Amino acid sequence: MDKKVKVVPCSGIGKVFGLMAREAALKTVIELCPEKSETVCLAYIVTGDKEVKGKIEGFDCITVDGCPKMCASKNVSAAGGIVKEDIKVLDTVKDHKGKKFVSPTVLDADGELVISEIAKKIKERIIGIN
Ligand code: SF4
Repeated sequence: MDKKVKVVPCSGIGKVFGLMAREAALKTVIELCPEKSETVCLAYIVTGDKEVKGKIEGFDCITVDGCPKMCASKNVSAAGGIVKEDIKVLDTVKDHKGKKFVSPTVLDADGELVISEIAKKIKERIIGIN
């Protein structure tokens, strides 16, 4: 059985916090926890792709969302994923008041710092699950 935790970020195209969600998820699955985690595309989950649904349904997932609409968390749950933690980018951003993080496509050093902090939170949760 596939024991890797699925880390699913929201899409958030055109929003800096959506970019942060995606970058934090990728940093986690590629750099921090490649043996224990993987990611899947939220768009495939939303459109009901059978292969991706098979990776989500009944499996442990961590979602990462860029705004209170919580698109990743809601859609992973609707697809049958077990959301062990729904990470909110804003929870980490609020510790960095006054920073702009540049743009929805490019992050500055402050943005990279936020991503690292979020990725660390995701890693700690993955370790707690496994
Ligand atoms: S959670 Fe917010 S930022 Fe992310 S895809 Fe949904 S609306 Fe966009």
